[in-house]
Amino acid sequence: MPIHVLSEEVVSQIAAGEVVERPSSVVKELVENSIDAGARDIRVETRAGGKRFIHVTDDGCGVPAIEAELAFRRHSTSKLATADDLVHITTLGFRGEALASIAAVSQVTFVTRAAAEPVGTLVRLEGGRVVAHQESGRPPGTAVTVEELFFNVPARRKFLRSEQTERRHVDAWLTRYAMAYPALRFTLAHDGRVVFQSPGNDRLRDVLVAVYGLEVGAALLEILPDAPLQSQIANQQIGKSANRQIGKSANQQISKSPISNIQVTGFVSPPSLHRANRGFITLFVNGRWVQDVRLTYAVIQAYHTLLPSGRYPLAVAMVHLPPEDVDVNVHPAKSEVRFRDGDAVFRAVQKAVRRTLIERSPVPVAVHVPTAWPVAAPQWREEQRERLAHLQPQPAAGQLRLEAERLEAVETPGRALEPPAGRLPPLRVVGQLGTTYVVAEGPAGMYLIDQHAAHERVLFEQLLAEHERAAIASQALLEPQPVELAPESAALLEEYLEVLSGLGFQVEPFGGTTVLVRALPAIVAQADPRQVLEDVAAALEMSDVPLAGTLVEAVAARVCKRAAVKAGQVLAHAEMEELVRALEKCASPRTCPHGRPTMIHLSVEQLAREFGRSVNASTS
Ligand code: ADP
Ligand code: MG
Repeated sequence: MPIHVLSEEVVSQIAAGEVVERPSSVVKELVENSIDAGARDIRVETRAGGKRFIHVTDDGCGVPAIEAELAFRRHSTSKLATADDLVHITTLGFRGEALASIAAVSQVTFVTRAAAEPVGTLVRLEGGRVVAHQESGRPPGTAVTVEELFFNVPARRKFLRSEQTERRHVDAWLTRYAMAYPALRFTLAHDGRVVFQSPGNDRLRDVLVAVYGLEVGAALLEILPDAPLQSQIANQQIGKSANRQIGKSANQQISKSPISNIQVTGFVSPPSLHRANRGFITLFVNGRWVQDVRLTYAVIQAYHTLLPSGRYPLAVAMVHLPPEDVDVNVHPAKSEVRFRDGDAVFRAVQKAVRRTLIERSPVPVAVHVPTAWPVAAPQWREEQRERLAHLQPQPAAGQLRLEAERLEAVETPGRALEPPAGRLPPLRVVGQLGTTYVVAEGPAGMYLIDQHAAHERVLFEQLLAEHERAAIASQALLEPQPVELAPESAALLEEYLEVLSGLGFQVEPFGGTTVLVRALPAIVAQADPRQVLEDVAAALEMSDVPLAGTLVEAVAARVCKRAAVKAGQVLAHAEMEELVRALEKCASPRTCPHGRPTMIHLSVEQLAREFGRSVNASTS
């Protein structure tokens, strides 16, 4: 083919490809525009994972009527005028590409009203061409609707993943911006259902509670400000005035002492809270979410020797530094940045996190722990609450609320707080009760153990340990078995084949919604493959929340539930012995993987009390 210049249409589609990869990229760009427009309230709605419909509204400054069409021209922006401006960008956008790119590959309706104008404007574009432009009523602000993404780029459309996956990417972006801008209120709805909302009260901890749940949100430690902050600010001011005297600009001064100008804020997990991968380390630079291997490592390094090997912290860290010390114009999607002094930023992050851990984490979070975990004893919670009130060094009102609700969470299945560390004492099996419970005796009284829940716990810890060593026992089926699944389940399984194979599944797509099962984890090899796979799909679906516990753990918990002995199953004495011995070895023997108690403990004191005996009078 001879060399020729590409047509305008092809050029714009290629360019669009760099900015718009999937529905979440559209959401990201539109939300960035809303933030740049000074909005306080940003609402996002999608249908079909955003493939068919994305709607973003804001109460920002809006676009004047005469500029509404111009906003869609490539390289048109109100945020940048000269190349010099590139050096100190304070807005999220600046390339003037997003609206043009989105419009090139979808059908966009843009309704906007600048506060000073009496009426709004509606512009509609299809494949980049304006098909309507008219007046339209709306309150000040902007609403953008993006329909039929990639309708004119079938190759791209084919690459989109399942609705759940696309939704998850949207969730991830929205929660990132909610964390970066706690003063703004973000609302996200999928298919008519609100799935996330941040309070917009300028408190990052409250956003973290909305994202990670109460338990994690309450446990996170706020990164301490750099100790000599006051003196630093004072120094800066001295520096500035000194500069003025010798005729230098403040900027030059800043670039000379970059370290004192790097601030790190946010929250990090105490060493007792960790995750199986580094995906829970979220970083922002000047309000922009970034992917940065080195800074991620800086956070991990701060936990050196504090975490078990193979475990990673959870962190939301914001780096603030003068805009001229960071280049955000590295990539069209802007999730990579380049620092003028990368080492200084690395040190600042590592130091801030380490300092926080050292100063904050020795303080016991869970206050006093009773010797035995009195499962399902409501009055214990009252006691604990009282004790909490005494021992807490007068927390702020909000904090107290969080702490109190944290105790509440203890009994909520699913997200239960880990019981206090401390393994089981050696127990003597007495017998089985109602073919459901194992009765056992220990130094501190009587234990009633739920055989199913206990077995789940045992299998779960074994499976995860094997997974860690990449040594999960997998058992091939005699004959590979095709299993037809619900479309959603099939899509989910196919997406996570790798996670599954790490857990001992050998499953492959078999056309349509059928998968071929070649092997299962040995512990469920006797079960019905269809049931096992439906279980797994359900687990994947449930952990379809951004950043919830790890997928591996969710799937493992389901598999173990299926594999564990059931209530109603008669157990021989030796089997009960084996179960109890295995439970004694568990790190968290007192709850099942889903957070339900595995046992009820009746202490010697309680028994004595119930029988009206005085506790110390052993001779009576
Ligand atoms: P950029 O954000 O890089 O400037 P965009 O293509 O995303 O480029 O947007 C082009 C311009 O349209 C912006 O510079 C801004 O002036 C205007 N604009 C886009 N979205 C909004 C919005 N939600 N509110 C106000 N103005 C907007
Ligand atoms: Mg933009």
